[in-house]
Amino acid sequence: MATKLLITFAICRLIVTVGLTLDPTELLRLAVEGQLSLDPSDLETASLDFGMMGRAKPLAVLHPASAEDIVRLVRAAYGSALGFSVSARGHGHSINGQAQTTKGVVIEMSGSSKGRGTQGGYGSKPALMLPRVSETKRYVDVWGGELWIDVLRSTMEHGLAPKSWTDYLYLSVGGTLSNAGISGQAFNHGPQIANVHELDVVTGKGELFTCSENQNSELFHAVLGGLDGSFCLYNVVRWIRVLYSNFSAFTKDQEFLISLHGQPSSKKFDYVEGFVIVDEGLINNWRSSFFSPHNPVKISSINSNGGVLYCLEITKNYHESTSDTIDQEIEALLKKLDFIPTSVFTTDLPYVDFLDRVHKAELKLRSKGLWDVPHPWLNLFIPKSKISDFDKGVFKGILGNKTSGPILIYPMNKEKWDQRSSVVTPDEEVFYLVAFLRSALDSGDETQSLDYLTNQNRQILRFCDDAGINAKQYLPHYTTQEEWLDHFGDKWAQFYQRKMEFDPRRILAAGQRIFNPTPLSNNIKKLASW
Ligand code: FAD
Repeated sequence: MATKLLITFAICRLIVTVGLTLDPTELLRLAVEGQLSLDPSDLETASLDFGMMGRAKPLAVLHPASAEDIVRLVRAAYGSALGFSVSARGHGHSINGQAQTTKGVVIEMSGSSKGRGTQGGYGSKPALMLPRVSETKRYVDVWGGELWIDVLRSTMEHGLAPKSWTDYLYLSVGGTLSNAGISGQAFNHGPQIANVHELDVVTGKGELFTCSENQNSELFHAVLGGLDGSFCLYNVVRWIRVLYSNFSAFTKDQEFLISLHGQPSSKKFDYVEGFVIVDEGLINNWRSSFFSPHNPVKISSINSNGGVLYCLEITKNYHESTSDTIDQEIEALLKKLDFIPTSVFTTDLPYVDFLDRVHKAELKLRSKGLWDVPHPWLNLFIPKSKISDFDKGVFKGILGNKTSGPILIYPMNKEKWDQRSSVVTPDEEVFYLVAFLRSALDSGDETQSLDYLTNQNRQILRFCDDAGINAKQYLPHYTTQEEWLDHFGDKWAQFYQRKMEFDPRRILAAGQRIFNPTPLSNNIKKLASW
């Protein structure tokens, strides 16, 4: 059955920078139902993100009460002689200022410091922004600023849950759909953007459109991707980890497991991820609430050579009523894999706890003051044919034996990604996500410093270029137009054309920095030169 995930999406992800200034007090004359704020604490919140790699203070912050508020603001920007940019901000979990702007207004889609958003969502959210679940048609209709944890809570009240997730749920719906939204379910159900039925979009002209596969479809695909998928009903997860010392055995097994996506659910796992263990500390890393702190896994007891290890992470969802068959189903699948036989770790836990697992790690890190630190994260899509070169050059080469954070690695099936969307993926049927999720610390250890890690990221990217890896960045961040053109490749022309159609004055999402700031008077000339 088709799923309907209706999102009041403030802004399409077609991105722009317009370098014009405006007196903030002029903005306050705009009549909105919500609040246009110049409050220093609002400006401060909007000027930072999870990456903590830079700060950019907006002129004002809009707390919208409805999609109409967003329309009013964007129309004002579009119609104003001076012009100003408008950036939607979900939960501010970008790394490189993607939701920021210095020359305009940030729309706080998920709430702000004013007592909203800490536990996910607003304390006093207008009724029209609350998730609405249709049990019969199996969809949830949500506001773009809704956090996924709140989407899960509201659907679970009906015994239902979306099928495609991110590892961490304190991200907004609009924020993850601007990128793709991936986790270990993507091989099977596609990224989150493949599970959207309908969107409400405000364009850069301040028009509000409902769009879907059949209605305003160009805008729909510009903003994200296709559809399909449905809700599911489980209450328990069997979470399994097995280790490998041989990289090709590890990737062969991961690729085998994702090739089962067309099989009945009894013959495949529900989630396939993995991570790289370069140093001992990281098997019990912060992303891992799996191994008990009282019973930490000692790599040395498994890996006598002291080399790099790879951990395959898989799950099987089930309902207590089917628990009698689950053991055989899992055993039949594990028999086909080639991991180190003594390295099987298994735990059962409630479905919601599994989905919300990274939040536990967040709370632990927060209590040690290790959450609000710079995060020089790097996420890459690597084509299957190059993953072994990447292993040799990066995991066994550039990284040395220190990583300063988890490194995720898992493959996905390109056929689950709608090529009409704006997302860029490698040109092969199977590609891997490799995510370096590192935290920079001021600990005196040079290998943990922001400079060191940022340099290492550059080295990794240079290696990819030199070795012809054909990597594509996920959650991309570039500083030059050449790099953006190279990133989009064949998709650039379409991306640019959609941008000009839906955001001709290029006032939206300045933080992505795809276009150079352009004074409005020169706008036409600049368009011609692109
Ligand atoms: P923000 O940082 O607020 O915004 C991100 C971008 O989306 C900006 O360009 C912004 O303008 C735009 N945007 C936000 N809301 C809207 C809207 N309503 N309309 C239009 N545009 C909008 N990603 C994965 O795919 N899988 C993961 O497992 C995963 N795990 C993560 C774990 C952590 C701890 C963190 C910090 C990030 C993780 N991410 C993951 C990355 C995450 O999906 C992106 O950083 C995402 O953009 C963050 O969402 P946000 O709501 O904080 O967005």
